[in-house]
Amino acid sequence: MSILKKNVLRLNRLILFLAITVTILTFANSLYSNYEVQKEQLVLQALEVNRAYASKLSDTTEVFLASSQQQLSYTSSLLSNKMGDEAFLKEEVDRLRLQTNSFNSVVITDDTGIAKAVSPETTGLLGRQLKSVGSLEALEEKRSLISKPFISTIKNLLVFISTPIFDPKNNYVGFVGGTIYLKKPNILSKILGQHYYENGSYIYVVDKQKQILYHPDIDRIGDYVTNNDGIDEIIMSQEGGIVLNNSYGKNMLAGYANIPSTDWIIITQSPLNVTLIPLTGIMEKVILRTMPMVIGVFIFIWFFARAISRPLQLLAEKAKSLDNPEVNEEIEKINSWYAESLSLKKAILSGVKLLHNQIGQLQRDSETDPLTGANNRRAFQVKLKKLVLLEQPFSILSLDIDYFKQVNDNYGHNVGDEVLKQQTQLIHRFCRDGDMVARTGGEEFILLLKDVELNDAYLVAERLRIATEQEVFDTVGHITVSIGVAAWSKNSVSIDEMLSSADKALYEAKGQGRNRCIIATPDITK
Ligand code: GH3
Ligand code: MG
Ligand code: MG
Repeated sequence: MSILKKNVLRLNRLILFLAITVTILTFANSLYSNYEVQKEQLVLQALEVNRAYASKLSDTTEVFLASSQQQLSYTSSLLSNKMGDEAFLKEEVDRLRLQTNSFNSVVITDDTGIAKAVSPETTGLLGRQLKSVGSLEALEEKRSLISKPFISTIKNLLVFISTPIFDPKNNYVGFVGGTIYLKKPNILSKILGQHYYENGSYIYVVDKQKQILYHPDIDRIGDYVTNNDGIDEIIMSQEGGIVLNNSYGKNMLAGYANIPSTDWIIITQSPLNVTLIPLTGIMEKVILRTMPMVIGVFIFIWFFARAISRPLQLLAEKAKSLDNPEVNEEIEKINSWYAESLSLKKAILSGVKLLHNQIGQLQRDSETDPLTGANNRRAFQVKLKKLVLLEQPFSILSLDIDYFKQVNDNYGHNVGDEVLKQQTQLIHRFCRDGDMVARTGGEEFILLLKDVELNDAYLVAERLRIATEQEVFDTVGHITVSIGVAAWSKNSVSIDEMLSSADKALYEAKGQGRNRCIIATPDITK
């Protein structure tokens, strides 16, 4: 019992532990996988939004560039035979710059690159030969171009969009070109800047050399992108989404798309941590929604496990008191609702039955005289105690076979035994319900008569004596007995006094010649 309490885990606790562990692990696992899935979803979603956005902006920019080139082409076609008309040239450059707002400045040159008309005039380029990268490229290539970013003659970082001018005989006579000053408010910043949105998201544009053409931080325009672990992949592919570390060491979700005509790349990116902000709310909701189920599962496991352990627990409890006479009935009542507990119950029940049978047998053996089957002295004493406790009056006949030694001597011990058995049966004929026959010595017996007064007991004793006298015993023939009679009732003598007076009466009967009954008297008692 103490071992059980100190060292051994109880089934109930084990089950509770199991229920809690299983529930927590399952819950944690489901939360974790949910978190991962939700996170992945949010990231993929943000990447896709950014990609789609970059793609849309790329389309818009592409359209803008195409229309810019178209405007320049139109002007170029108008100028075909009007290169000498300076007023017209001036009109055209102003119109191009002011009407569409596409360019920061517009210039028309002759076939040597000398500026024939400039808008605005404040550039101070009129009449000068243009030597900038864009101009030289235009003169050389003689076709529609969008230049790479470069620093111009008047120290602006710009891209130059130009179209050649041919006279009606198709001779090259110059070009018309528009600039976009990257570091000043320009059409690109108008297209891209208005989409600049909050919470750390931004858009920037790079070319294939990783040079920044547009950036919300104007100081970075013209710089080259460094320390960005995603930029190489971005400039390699046309369109997509990527998780990267930006130049500031921040985790960003970047969507990007290529502008086909220039090979510029528009990148829209948003911080990973901002994207993941809704995750907390989502997880809270997940927890709130899962909780009832978790509690339900926990209660279910607990109750079910308890129901499994219940019969075992009860059986174990009952097994502690198998000697209890009612244990059989109590075990019968236990609801052993599944096979193993039922087998256990059956096994315990048959064990209990066996045990009780054996206990009963032992008890009977311990109270029975093996030779005659009569009660022994111990049983007799138990009976006396019971009667005294119940204050039940009774008488006893203390009986001794006369000259029994001679029986043994004459016929042998076995015959003597047979006589003892037959005498026992004879005495039993005088024994009613509640009375008792006990063999209290070798050839000494006591017949206890419940609720019988001394005088009536004497009459019984006489009948018994006469019956013995008349009985024919195998081999031996006839024997006689002497009987001492005594009675006990509440408020009379003590048990010991009564027993001793019965003995004395018996002794008296022997003394008077045997084969007689003597009633114990107070005189005899003394
Ligand atoms: P009394 O009339 O004075 O009683 O004479 P008795 O011979 O009966 O008395 P005694 O006490 O001298 O002898 C009792 C005898 O009973 C002695 C013993 O051998 C015999 N005896 C005792 N127990 C048994 C037994 O279990 N079986 C047999 N066969 N004899 C027994
Ligand atoms: Mg004797
Ligand atoms: Mg005797």
